[in-house]
Amino acid sequence: MKMLINGRLTGEEKIEIRNPYDNRVIDKVPAASKEDTREAISAAKKAKDEMISLTAHRISEALYDTSQELEKRSEEFSHLLALDSGKPIKAARDEVKRSIETLKLSAEESKRIYGETIPMDAGIGGKDFIGFTIKLPLGVIAAITPFNYPLNLAIHKVGPALASKNSVILKPSLKAPLSALKMGEILNEYFPPGAINVLTGKASIIGDELLKSDDIDKISFTGGFKTGKMIAENSGMKKLTLELGGNDPIIVLRDANIERAVEGAIRGSYLYSGQICIAVKRIIVEEKIADEFVQKLIKETSKLRIGDPLDPKTDIGPLISEKAAINVEKLVSEAIEEGAELLYGGGRDGNLFEPTILDNVQPSMRLVKEETFGPVSPIIRVKDADEALEVANSTCYALQAGVFTENIHEALRFASELEAGTVLINKQSTYRVDHMPFGGFDCSGMGKEGVKYAIDDMTRTKLIIFNKK
Ligand code: NAD
Repeated sequence: MKMLINGRLTGEEKIEIRNPYDNRVIDKVPAASKEDTREAISAAKKAKDEMISLTAHRISEALYDTSQELEKRSEEFSHLLALDSGKPIKAARDEVKRSIETLKLSAEESKRIYGETIPMDAGIGGKDFIGFTIKLPLGVIAAITPFNYPLNLAIHKVGPALASKNSVILKPSLKAPLSALKMGEILNEYFPPGAINVLTGKASIIGDELLKSDDIDKISFTGGFKTGKMIAENSGMKKLTLELGGNDPIIVLRDANIERAVEGAIRGSYLYSGQICIAVKRIIVEEKIADEFVQKLIKETSKLRIGDPLDPKTDIGPLISEKAAINVEKLVSEAIEEGAELLYGGGRDGNLFEPTILDNVQPSMRLVKEETFGPVSPIIRVKDADEALEVANSTCYALQAGVFTENIHEALRFASELEAGTVLINKQSTYRVDHMPFGGFDCSGMGKEGVKYAIDDMTRTKLIIFNKK
């Protein structure tokens, strides 16, 4: 596939993209040079004026038409996602459905970008003045996205950016770039040349140019903490949204509905092999019910099928690379050496890692201190709710957190005291609908996505004041 610069598909296709399941080459993509990146920046800069001249009505229709086109081509996109990201096809189909919705939400929100009237006379010296605000686009948005939801997370940036009349340069992850490239092609048919550009290639080459350019008004980044921190340190005065990693806990209290908690743990730990920012990465269980919880978790985990992502029966596909799988293997063996007990799984075959349950994990182990991106359920036993809260809040990440309890007082207490961007009661952290405000605190980043909230962060507020006299 080719890149998209200034409305043209371009670039020699030379970087091999491989299927993480069987390692075969499925496509090739270009390696953008500094010059390509600069050309994309200047095309996006030129397209700014044209975007501003379009009516919200026209933009809404264009986004809606794009969603219709994606809907027509759902199977093609699901297949692409399964091939380059190694995501099981049923999860890939879910991602495509959500992507269609995110585009529709963008089409809807593009018509609702309101300012407000300011009661100027409420302040000293405000008599006889009328004030109102309007929302203006920022200009050029650089969108940098990760491998794990390569289509929907790209649309979470590109949709709101175009909806609010910005132009965009999208840099998808080289680990799974195909669906974003294809999506760019579709959007390009409905928007002016240069309004959407998609670059593939070495992250540092493209990244350097984007970070240092004065023509980029905002960087909207989703990815790991380390990359996000580097971007924050090197992007000067640009506006920033950083959607970073997570180390989400679920907490299972003594009065929880255990079946419901087990179901949450299974979905949260193993969906897309745990390669999700809001995957359940720590399971904190009160000692009193821990044995029963663990037995049920083992039983349900044993029903999962590992295999080819294209097989509709597959629950667990490969990790994105062998390096990623080896890293998970290392973290699991290190935890075992330090006293954790392996109850299920633990095996690796190339990129495939078995769903794995470890009991008696300690909060100090790297497996749960860092963000482990794999199909692992680490059980941390605690004596009571106080300790559960302390352990849950003990990492620097604060993305989402789930609490399972039938006790309303505990639910309210955890809702207020858990350090997380979202607290879910009786639901695992691995839950998102695409219009909700989404984003964490601390090491999990800053700013919110969810179409309306992303638009807020992609616009500037201008105040206009009239002297009535
Ligand atoms: P990553 O940080 O390795 O890469 C993310 C993106 O940054 C990729 O496009 C990559 O090419 C790019 N990048 C890397 N170096 C760069 C540079 N020097 N300049 C510019 N861009 C550069 O992350 P990943 O492995 O693709 O994704 C997994 C991570 O993303 C996990 O930590 C996960 O939790 C996080 N994530 C967060 C959210 C969220 O919404 N909070 C959602 C999904 C994934």
